[in-house]
Amino acid sequence: MNRVGPRTARLTARGVVRRYGGIAAVAGVDLSAPPGRITALIGPNGAGKSTLFDCLAGTVRPDAGRVLLGGRDVTRLAAHTRVRLGLARTFQQIAVFPTLSVADNVRIGAEQRHRGRHQGRGRDVRAEDADTARALALLGLQRLAAQPAGDQPTGVLRLVELARALAGRPRVLLLDEPAAGLDTVQTGRLASVLRGLADRGMALLLVEHDVDLVAELADTVYAMADGQVVACGPTAAVLADARVARAWGGAAPEVGDT
Ligand code: ATP
Repeated sequence: MNRVGPRTARLTARGVVRRYGGIAAVAGVDLSAPPGRITALIGPNGAGKSTLFDCLAGTVRPDAGRVLLGGRDVTRLAAHTRVRLGLARTFQQIAVFPTLSVADNVRIGAEQRHRGRHQGRGRDVRAEDADTARALALLGLQRLAAQPAGDQPTGVLRLVELARALAGRPRVLLLDEPAAGLDTVQTGRLASVLRGLADRGMALLLVEHDVDLVAELADTVYAMADGQVVACGPTAAVLADARVARAWGGAAPEVGDT
C-alpha cells in the first residue's frame, strides 16, 4: 500500500459519474493527465470541474466509473491513501495553519510522505528536513521560512500551499486555481515552477480560470460543460471550438481577456 513505485504516473478518469440528487455534476468523464505534461480543465461555473477534481483526489466517491493512478485502480481508496501513492492537490480555498511558520506548514507535506513510508519505524526527520527545504527553495520561500503563515498575504499563501504539496514529492499534482490571488511576478514564477515540474516528469492537472495562464502552460485542455467534456486538445483549438463557446453562453474566454 505504501510503496510509491515508479517516479512517474499517469492519472486517468474512465467514465466517472457523480450525482447530487437529480443532477449529474459529473456525467461520464474520460480524462488522462500523462507524466511530463500540463493538462488543464476549464469550463463555466457549475460545469463540474471541482466535483471531478474531488473524485480524482478521493474526497468525493464517484457513483460510477474508475480513477487510475499509474495504472492502479484507486477509485475506492481514501484521499490520504492516494497522497501516499503520489497524488497531491492544492485547494481553491487556501488552508494553512496560521500560527505555524511557513516552513512548518510546508513540512506537513513532507511528514505525510515519510509517515507513509516509515510506518512503525519512527520519523525520518532528516528526510523531512530535506524535502521541506527543497520545496521552500523551489518556490523562493526560504526568506519567509520562519515567519508565521498567518502574517502572509494571499499570494504567498498560495505558494506555501503549493510548496506543501511538493514537499510530499508527488508524481501527480492537482491544482485548483493556483494563480488566484497571485500578482504578475508570482504568476510568472508559478508558471516556470509548474513547467519545470512537468519537465522532470510530473503529471499536472489544473483547474484555472486565467486563460492566459492556460494558454501559456497547458499541453492539453479539457473543456467541461454540464458535467461532460465538450472539447479536448491543444488550447487554441479548444477555445475556438463552437461547443466551448456555447458552454460559455456564446463567447468563450479569449487569451488576453483575463
Ligand atoms: P465553479 O467554476 O463555479 O467552481 P465547477 O465547474 O467546479 O464550478 P462544480 O462545483 O463541480 O462545478 O458543480 C457542478 C454542479 O454540481 C453544480 O450544479 C453544483 O451546484 C452541483 N454540486 C456540486 N457540489 C455539490 C454538492 N455537494 N451538493 C449538491 N450539489 C452540488
